[in-house]
Amino acid sequence: MTKYKLEYIWLDGYKPVPNLRGKTQIKEFADFPTLDQLPLWGFDGSSTLQAEGHSSDCVLKPVAHFPDPARANGVLVMCEVMMPDGVTPHPSNSRATILDDQDAWFGFEQEYFFYKDGRPLGFPEHGFPAPQGPYYTGVGYKNVGDIARKLTEEHLDLCLAAGINHEGINAEVAKGQWEFQIFGKGSRTAADQMWIARYLLMRLTEKYGIDIEWHCKPLGDTDWNGSGMHCNFSTKFMREVGGKEYFEALMAQFDKNLMDHIAVYGPDNDKRLTGKHETAPWNKFSYGVADRGASIRVPHSFVNNGYRGYLEDRRPNSQGDPYQIASQILKTISEVPTEAFKKAAA
Ligand code: ADP
Ligand code: MN
Ligand code: MN
Ligand code: MN
Repeated sequence: MTKYKLEYIWLDGYKPVPNLRGKTQIKEFADFPTLDQLPLWGFDGSSTLQAEGHSSDCVLKPVAHFPDPARANGVLVMCEVMMPDGVTPHPSNSRATILDDQDAWFGFEQEYFFYKDGRPLGFPEHGFPAPQGPYYTGVGYKNVGDIARKLTEEHLDLCLAAGINHEGINAEVAKGQWEFQIFGKGSRTAADQMWIARYLLMRLTEKYGIDIEWHCKPLGDTDWNGSGMHCNFSTKFMREVGGKEYFEALMAQFDKNLMDHIAVYGPDNDKRLTGKHETAPWNKFSYGVADRGASIRVPHSFVNNGYRGYLEDRRPNSQGDPYQIASQILKTISEVPTEAFKKAAA
């Protein structure tokens, strides 16, 4: 038997953005445990804005698990928060009731800032560094400093070792701003991996005295880019049948549901989706081929392939909840029946 360190990770009850929480318990298993072997656990919900009345115990239900590469015999255990009965989802549980579809693929591009001493990493104590331009995908000390790349590389290795579908890294437009991409099949699979990747990044940077600023516009109304979490998505129908008519019907539905999308695309998005800095205004839906100033960017490959493939919704922001974002996209897609277009494409 081996003693495993099980890190139970969950989202707390803070609004509008939940925080990641985690605590460890040690359990013995003959081998790396299966998800079914991981027991329910509890925590004090009164300390996380999740307590209901006088009984403050909430239940942690393991829903996904990964090897924890930073710990000997470690396991990262993503949990849903349940009511004391262990079966009713807690009101803060944004995962339990979402739409899911294993054939829907999601690629999230998570942007964020490294922060040190209350300002973006690499910003001088007073004033600003040289304006934006050379930082995006940049190289060299004056562009990326001496620590950011080490952090993003370490994070990449941690994610890969945990079995997370990390797909890439790039330095972003603002100084101290970076991006990583996570891909998954199914909204829960993709979003669980995103939350664990966020957790690994935050835990990694503790020892460097560096924080992650997830806010979508930390530098406010300035000439410094905000942070998004573009959501690339495709269903089986979009990949295999598609067609221009279906695409246009889908875009009309996205237009109609504008406010439902914005509601779950992350707080303060009006400060980011201004029409500047490669964004579309938050209150007007648009799409365009290779257009980074549109709400939805249509890749060239999509059009060249007969309106088949994936689309990029550029509106979700860096603080958005990937469970809710993926689910809303699936909801809008579900409102456009595919039957009529199967005939048209045949
Ligand atoms: P860009 O910065 O040009 O917008 P990225 O390369 O950062 O694009 O991200 C593209 C994302 O699209 C990746 O996360 C990738 O996983 C995702 N992706 C690629 N193909 C598909 C697909 N068929 N369905 C859903 N997502 C996809
Ligand atoms: Mn990208
Ligand atoms: Mn980006
Ligand atoms: Mn993008």
